[in-house]
Amino acid sequence: MLLVAIFLVYIFVILMLLFEQGLGSSPFLAFPLYLFSLLVTLFVFRSLISYLQRRRRENLRQVKKVGDKLKELEKEQEKIRGANASLEEKVEEIQNLYQVTKEMAFSLELETTSQTLKRCLKDSFSFTAGELILLKERENEVDIERVFQIGEKEIKSDLERRLLELFLSGQKGVLSIPDTSSSLQARHLGLSKEVKSFAAIPLVVDKKLLAIMAIENISTAEIDRLLVVSAQLALELKKTRLYQEVQRLSIIDGLTGAFLRRHFLERFREELERSAHHELPLSFLMVDIDHFKDYNDKYGHLMGDAVLEELTQILKEKVRDIDLVGRYGGEEFSILLPETGEKGALQVAERLRLGVEEHRFKPYDEATKITVSIGLANFPNQAKDAKTLIDRADQALYKAKQTGRNRVCSFGSLSLNSS
Ligand code: GH3
Ligand code: MG
Ligand code: MG
Repeated sequence: MLLVAIFLVYIFVILMLLFEQGLGSSPFLAFPLYLFSLLVTLFVFRSLISYLQRRRRENLRQVKKVGDKLKELEKEQEKIRGANASLEEKVEEIQNLYQVTKEMAFSLELETTSQTLKRCLKDSFSFTAGELILLKERENEVDIERVFQIGEKEIKSDLERRLLELFLSGQKGVLSIPDTSSSLQARHLGLSKEVKSFAAIPLVVDKKLLAIMAIENISTAEIDRLLVVSAQLALELKKTRLYQEVQRLSIIDGLTGAFLRRHFLERFREELERSAHHELPLSFLMVDIDHFKDYNDKYGHLMGDAVLEELTQILKEKVRDIDLVGRYGGEEFSILLPETGEKGALQVAERLRLGVEEHRFKPYDEATKITVSIGLANFPNQAKDAKTLIDRADQALYKAKQTGRNRVCSFGSLSLNSS
């Protein structure tokens, strides 16, 4: 278009020049030519103006378009900035959670794990009251073992048992009460009025409920994050339990539940050192079942095993918590009585002997009886070290067997008789 206009202007200029050079001398020709040139020029200018106006409008449209695009881009940028900020927040959260789980993974002791958990939750979460309710399976029944406080404050209501019942009676997954004021469950749990929201997360591994995490005043967003921590914590609990079990098996006799000989002797030496340091007496008993071979022959080995188990229970029940009961060998048991002189030890031994004699062992239908003989030696009167004490108690036991069984014999009385 612009080219056409320039072309026309060019024709007009030529015509004007022709006009100037002679054609203009003829007025008949000059006037129409002049008019024609003028019209052509006007037409050209008009076309040029409308062309420029169109270009301007087009440009304005383009500018508006670009402006709109820019606005859109600014909006997008704002969105991206928001998304970036929330991503950064998420990364920080994940880093915190990773730190929590990493620190928990280092510990094999429940106390340390729960302390680490409490510290990390305080750093990464805003709730203040929380509990970790540890559960234990006893004779196929799940019961509460311990409760650890994992928030700054303790949970005031007595909700542990009710929570356990809830999860055992079929509550699957997280129990979340975002608004306690209108919740029947909140009332059932006995939550106090200051508790606005509540969550209980079951910690399950291999379909076994290991613990419940109860948290007061927690937001829905925090529950999601806490789920990550609780999943890791459940694995930590399982690991800790396995470690405890391995530890237990390394010191406890699987059949009877008494201490294994090696562990018993370690504790024996520790107690001896303590007794020597504080100048306290200590007594050692060696207990042996009478004619146990005959018992096995008559009732079978399995029944014999059950008797060994039951006998250990009796021995444990009839001594104090600080006394140690060990399985020294097959049907021989060793008992350590710290801070006990010979007289006191003789009374304990007699109580044990009588207790066994009177007990009816009933591993199956038939009630059976057994008796035990007990040898006794005392620190510091009869020996100063573990080996000699054991030897002397063994000698006293031998004497008890020789003099008719089902009796208690002290090494002290042996030395008195021989002198
Ligand atoms: P005594 O009165 O002289 O002690 O006679 P005893 O038959 O008890 O003594 P002995 O040492 O001759 O036999 C011990 C028996 O204890 C032999 C074995 O059958 C039994 N025994 C040892 N360990 C176990 C065990 O783990 N389970 C069972 N069922 N029996 C055991
Ligand atoms: Mg024996
Ligand atoms: Mg025996």
